[in-house]
Order: sequence, then structure tokens, then C-alpha cells
Amino acid sequence: LSERLSGVLDRLTKQGALSEEDVKTALREVRVALLEADVSLPVAREFIKKVEKEATGQAVTKSVTPGQQVVKIVHDALIETLRGSEDPGALKIDNPPAPILMVGLQGSGKTTTTAKLAKRLKERDGKKVLMASLDVNRPAAMEQLAILGQQIGVDTLPIVKGEDPVAIAKRAKTQASLGGYDVYMLDTAGRLHIDADLIAQAAAVRDVANPRETLLVVDGLTGQDAVNVATEFDDKIGVSGVVLTRMDGDGRGGAALSMRAVTGKPIRFVGLGEKMDAIETFEPERIAGRILGMGDIVALVEKAQETIEAEQAERMMRRMQKGQFNMNDLRSQLEQMQKMGGMQGLMGMMPGMGKMAKQVQESGFDDKMILRQIALIQSMTKKERANPALLQASRKKRIARGAGQEVSDLNKLLKMHRQMADMMKKMGKMGKGGMLKQAMS
Ligand code: GDP
Ligand code: MG
Repeated sequence: LSERLSGVLDRLTKQGALSEEDVKTALREVRVALLEADVSLPVAREFIKKVEKEATGQAVTKSVTPGQQVVKIVHDALIETLRGSEDPGALKIDNPPAPILMVGLQGSGKTTTTAKLAKRLKERDGKKVLMASLDVNRPAAMEQLAILGQQIGVDTLPIVKGEDPVAIAKRAKTQASLGGYDVYMLDTAGRLHIDADLIAQAAAVRDVANPRETLLVVDGLTGQDAVNVATEFDDKIGVSGVVLTRMDGDGRGGAALSMRAVTGKPIRFVGLGEKMDAIETFEPERIAGRILGMGDIVALVEKAQETIEAEQAERMMRRMQKGQFNMNDLRSQLEQMQKMGGMQGLMGMMPGMGKMAKQVQESGFDDKMILRQIALIQSMTKKERANPALLQASRKKRIARGAGQEVSDLNKLLKMHRQMADMMKKMGKMGKGGMLKQAMS
């Protein structure tokens, strides 16, 4: 049985690289998925083109079909595109009182989001926050903010009838300074559609308030229109981030990708309901999964990849226990290191390797060096790789020359190999329990 099984696996392994045809076929489906998620057509097209180039020629993980592999590549590319800033939830609020301007269309969720963020700033960051409604078109809107303020225990600027938005913004600023507030939030009026008036009003407010953050609030259920809205607001007002609301609904959030791709502005928060706690910082992984709607496939490919890595690690462990560690093993270690963010990254991940990481750093071992060492190993014959003891002076010269390096470089590599082989032998003998004990000591 196991022979037959390994035969099957072998054949699957030999699937090799993604062909142009594989990629094209899979991307046709992805394209439909993106459009269904309300990603705008030009953005979907551009995105597909980019992924097509990236995916063609990439290796297919064994036990996964080319189509599944492409979906995983698309998923990762989506996350990459959606990821805006390291810490989307960190608002710029130093230098109190820091003004935050909220803009967007009517009904997008500005007033609700203003209150949600105020609550968050108060509770998480211990900030003293003042909220002001600049929505003079609808008296009920000013009331709405005042009521929310009471609910969450955040002050609102007293309502004065007949004031224009600029006057309110000025008053909010004064009040925030006098009252010792850390942050003041300006909740502007919206319209159902963008018009010159709305933009002019927001611009005038921006000019007096000089906001540290200008957050554009967009309904996550709007699809194609989101791009126009975001472009217009960003061009005319300048936004520092986007809040995507109504993501508790069944909208798939394609607007996020469109806006991010077109304006380059980061998505900062996601609104997940009408309640005051229903807001979260933006996580590209979650939205990516939702936009693509192919979570099962992504999980499947990830699982396959993990399995293979585990198999490789196990094979290595078995060799270690037998005291075998040749140049092929060293090479795969070096390649693995490179993949995992170089020496520093790798050592950081291995328990008990702290001291070695430092030694390595001191010896000037960097990522370029990894490539040079791989080149040396590549310059060896198959026999030499399997049995480094063969390497005498003349062979060393040939290998070093082949890699465009000095024999002294090769000697360093050999020394490292010997040290690692020794260490592996010890670790192998100790077995798992021993290793753990050592790591913890
Ligand atoms: P504004 O006109 O932009 O100020 O929008 P509002 O803040 O008044 O919100 C309009 C409606 O959308 C209100 O009924 C809110 O309760 C609702 N709303 C806002 N954000 C969310 C959200 O994230 N999810 C859901 N389900 N409803 C929301
Ligand atoms: Mg409002």
C-alpha cells in the first residue's frame, strides 16, 4: 500500500510549475468572484493581470490542483494589496487637542462611527474626547450625536441654532482647548451624492480645523460607487484613511479593494453593527477571505503546504537522529533560512538559538552570505555533497573557482557544516524531550 501511495504522491509532486493555461483558467473564476463581491471592473482587471504575471511559473504544492494553487496565490495577493498600514487602528492624536474630521456620504455611518471611535478612544486610550456635529442641514442629526454622546459618556459640543459648519468647527476647537480635551471629532453633514457644495463645505471645515486625521466613512455595501466617492473626497479634501461600515451585512466588501487600489489610502476600521462597540481595526486577512469567498480552497492549500513542511522537517529529524547531515541538508537549511526572512528571522524562531544567533551576527553572516554559500554547494558534485569528507585541496580549488569565490570561503562553509553536524548529532541523540529541556534551561 505504502508503495502505491508514495507513487501517487510522486506523480503529484511532479506536477511542477503553473502553466499559463492553468493560471488563465483559474483566474477566469476568480474574476467572476471579484465582480460578484462588487470590486470595480477596472480594479478587478488590473488585479487579475498582476496576479497572472506573478502566478505563472510558480510551483504547485503536491496534492493540490493548479486551480487551487492559483486561488491561494490570489488570496495572498489580495491581502498584500489590502494591507495599508502596519497599525491601522492607531490614530494620530498627539498634540492635544487633536482634531479628527469625519467625511462621507449621507447615511454612510459617519455619526455612528464618530461615536464608536470616541468610545474607543475614551476606553482604550483613556482620552478625553469632545464630539461636534456640523450637520446643520438636519437638526435631527445634531440631536442624534448628542444622544449617542450621552449613551457612551462622551461630551458633545452644545448645539447653537443658526451656526454654519465653519463656525461650529471653530467653536469646537476653542472648547477643546479650554476644556483640556485630547481629541475633538468633527462629524460633518453628508449628501446622497457628491456635489460641489458638499465638498466646498468639507474643505472649508478642513481649513479651519487642520485635522490630524480625516476619515472617509463608506458603506461597505456600496460597490462600484465607492471608488468615485473615495477618489473625489481624497482629491478635494485629502483623506488619511477609510472606515468601511455595514460589514456585518452580507456585502462581500469588494469596495475595500477598489478604494485601496485606486486611492492608495489605507482602510483603518470596519463597522460591524449599530451598537457602539461594533467597530474593529481593519484586518486584511478577513476581508480578503470575504471578497474572494473561496476560504475552503485557501485553507486546503495552506494545509497541504503545512503537511509538506512537516514531512520535510520529519525527514530532517530522522537524518539528524542517524547522525547524517550532508551538504544537501545544509543547502536546504540555507534555502529555508532565506525563505523565512534570513538568518535573524530563523534563529529568532528556534528555541535555544539565541546565543548562536548572536555569534552568527558577529561573524558577519548575512543574507548575501547565504546566497554565496548556496552557490558553493551548487558548485560541488553530487558525491561531494553527499560526503563532504571527500573535499581535498584540488577539489576545494575547483569548487571555489566554480562559485567565483576563494578556498577560504569554502573552508568557512565546511567549518560551519561541521559545527552544525555536531550540533545536529547531539540534538538528535537527545530526542524531543532533551531538546525541550535544553531550550528551557
Ligand atoms: P451618517 O448619515 O453618515 O451620519 O450615517 P449614520 O451614522 O446616521 O448611520 C446611518 C444608519 O446606518 C444608522 O441607522 C446606523 O445605525 C446604521 N449603521 C452605521 N454603521 C453601521 C454598521 O457598521 N452596521 C450596521 N448594520 N448599521 C450601521
Ligand atoms: Mg450623520
